[in-house]
Amino acid sequence: MSEKLEAALRHAIDLERKTRTPAENLAEERSESLRLVHELLHETEKKHFRDALEFMPCAVVAIENNGTIFAANTAAIKLLHITAEIELLNSNWSSWVVGDYENDIRGLREGQELILPIKCADGKLTTVGLSARSTQFQHRTSTILVLRDLSEQRRHEDALHYQATHDGLTDLPNRVLLLDRINHAIPRASRGHENIALFFIDLDKFKFINDSLGHNAGDQVLCEVARRLQQLAREGDTVARLGGDEFVVACERINKTDIERVGSRLIAALDAPFEIHGNQHYLGGSVGVAVYPEHGEDTELLLKRADIAMYEAKASGGSNLCRFSLDMQKNIDMRLEMEAHLRNGLLNNELVLHYQPQVDFKTGTLVSLEALVRWNSPQYGLLSPEKFLPLAEESNLINALDNFVLEQACTQIVKWHQKGLGWVRVAINLAATKFTLPSFEFELRDCLKHHGIPSGYLELEVTESLSMGDPNAALELMYKIKNMGVQLAIDDFGTGYSNLGYLKRFPADRLKIDQSFVRGLLKNPQDRTIIAAVIQLAHNLNMRAIAEGVETEEEAIQLFALNVDEIQGYWLSRPEPPHIIEQLLVKATLLEPAKFMRGEEIPRVLLVEDDIVAMEIMIFLLESLGVRVVCADSAERAMELFHQSEFTMAIIDHWLPGENGITLLSRIKQMMPHTVRVLVTSSNDPQVLRDAINIGGVSHFLTKPIDPDTLKQVVMKACWHNLAKRRSSTT
Ligand code: C2E
Ligand code: MG
Ligand code: MG
Repeated sequence: MSEKLEAALRHAIDLERKTRTPAENLAEERSESLRLVHELLHETEKKHFRDALEFMPCAVVAIENNGTIFAANTAAIKLLHITAEIELLNSNWSSWVVGDYENDIRGLREGQELILPIKCADGKLTTVGLSARSTQFQHRTSTILVLRDLSEQRRHEDALHYQATHDGLTDLPNRVLLLDRINHAIPRASRGHENIALFFIDLDKFKFINDSLGHNAGDQVLCEVARRLQQLAREGDTVARLGGDEFVVACERINKTDIERVGSRLIAALDAPFEIHGNQHYLGGSVGVAVYPEHGEDTELLLKRADIAMYEAKASGGSNLCRFSLDMQKNIDMRLEMEAHLRNGLLNNELVLHYQPQVDFKTGTLVSLEALVRWNSPQYGLLSPEKFLPLAEESNLINALDNFVLEQACTQIVKWHQKGLGWVRVAINLAATKFTLPSFEFELRDCLKHHGIPSGYLELEVTESLSMGDPNAALELMYKIKNMGVQLAIDDFGTGYSNLGYLKRFPADRLKIDQSFVRGLLKNPQDRTIIAAVIQLAHNLNMRAIAEGVETEEEAIQLFALNVDEIQGYWLSRPEPPHIIEQLLVKATLLEPAKFMRGEEIPRVLLVEDDIVAMEIMIFLLESLGVRVVCADSAERAMELFHQSEFTMAIIDHWLPGENGITLLSRIKQMMPHTVRVLVTSSNDPQVLRDAINIGGVSHFLTKPIDPDTLKQVVMKACWHNLAKRRSSTT
């Protein structure tokens, strides 16, 4: 073989190797390959030509003008599933091709490829890409056919097509295939005057499974749902998964009267328990149905309307079937309109914050304000969050809304500070999604820095459900925020699905007991038990317990007795705009126990003190704590008073004219053992203290000058707390 020929062959081989890869722009390379074979035919003798063909890694067949095959290489033999060239020689090329492609082959131009089916010797069909070039060989016009086996590529393409049209987890058709099938079904149904029903299914408590039991459990449920739906489907129905926990069952040729029945079966299938890790879980599903041609004549519209009906089913409690109606469409249109207004409202400052006080139960002082957003809409009037927050969440406006609230709240904190009202802590509510954004940490830091607010004056309220979403990521972010000094509260506690394991890792400062429990406090002993347990839990986790939605004095008394730390609710104040709140900020306390204890039960304190100045100071301090004070300047007078009425507490000075305080206390102990006994002494002689306890039965000591905070603590505990406890145990 000449050097030139050898080089040409090597080049041809390289090219052909490349053509075996499923690349698409091979036309040029293929024609190069053909050109080389063509050159060979000219340059070589027949024998050399055959040798050279063998070098070609792709199948090559040489035919005469009438189609008779006169040469083929081993690759062609393999491709056509024969054992030797002899089986091929003298046969007509057209006998291998399925269909009449003669003219197409003749018309093939350089660089073009024709895809055609070939019937192999064993009867199997395969697909080849064929390129052709006519040439002169030994003074005869011949055609060289280069064949590319496309069966592998086809398989590959088929696999890709399958992937593109099926759901990877359940193997069900996906949205693409579903739409395609409905597109084809509609003309059939139109010709036959038939109905197609699209059942749109969304699982009701899937998020719970995913969040609490993990994604593997979620996947298990989805596969089981797919299996159940397929079991229910008739032949010709399509069961598809659109993504997440959304499925569609499309039924052709369905009678209108059967729609309810099919829907009920679907619901029953989803109502049945799902077994996960050996436990049974009940999920249920909401099903919406839209019917061709009644509810729409094109696929997208039908699917959209089935989805709308599903939403309606979900809104009415889930686990039921809803048929699409035009009213539903109207509602959707109204929602879209409202969404557009809300979007504008956010830009036009139509959102305002009202503030509701949170009060420390022990001191009565306002410790914090919760910022609650309202929408002052020109179109709809003043709206409470429940009217627009769900919409904001669905339309991804919630992030912008929360940013706005953060900014507004910080601006207000600074305004109050500038007005001389001091730094007031404000709590803002955040949507769960905020804690999935790592950038939130920086936004928060920038915001506090920009406004110059000490970080402890901002609190973020987070709902329990958030904590369960992606707990580890949320926790990490919470720790960073906590390290900044920002306070954290867990909102609406008890309404979500609490994971106590995560709860103990939460760096929260407060636990807000949901108002639904407070509402049941007076009627339902279980609610009382739950609140008591939650308060205990909060305290054990080093959090303060705050009760939301306190509306009545009775509720306050009960909560006081249960040792809740803070309260919030209409009983103290409704959420109000900043100028009203300012009137509360100037008050030292918002809550005196006397304000909510019945007059006749106001605790009576006997104060025995011979020093007039000390007595007046004490009277002032005690009355500010809401108790009724009765005074005596000697032990003798004190005993007279004791004979006349009962006292919740006796505060006795150590040094009295005549009889000393300890002796007086021991007499009171005998006469009125329930009276809480307090000795005022500046002595730290251990003997005096021992006598006071052992002889006088003293439970608290006070030293002169009296510290108002210590006095407050003693009085609160001895008087109000005991009283509330007594009252709550008799109700
Ligand atoms: P929440 O955080 O639990 O807020 C307490 C809700 O209870 C407020 O309703 C408040 O007005 C109401 N409330 C307070 N005291 C009482 C009471 O004594 N009785 C009754 N029946 N209700 C009381 P509001 O303002 O309608 O807010 C509802 C929910 O909307 C809030 O519940 C919170 O989850 C959310 N929210 C409010 N503002 C925002 C905000 O700026 N951003 C976000 N993401 N959510 C907010
Ligand atoms: Mg809140
Ligand atoms: Mg709440």
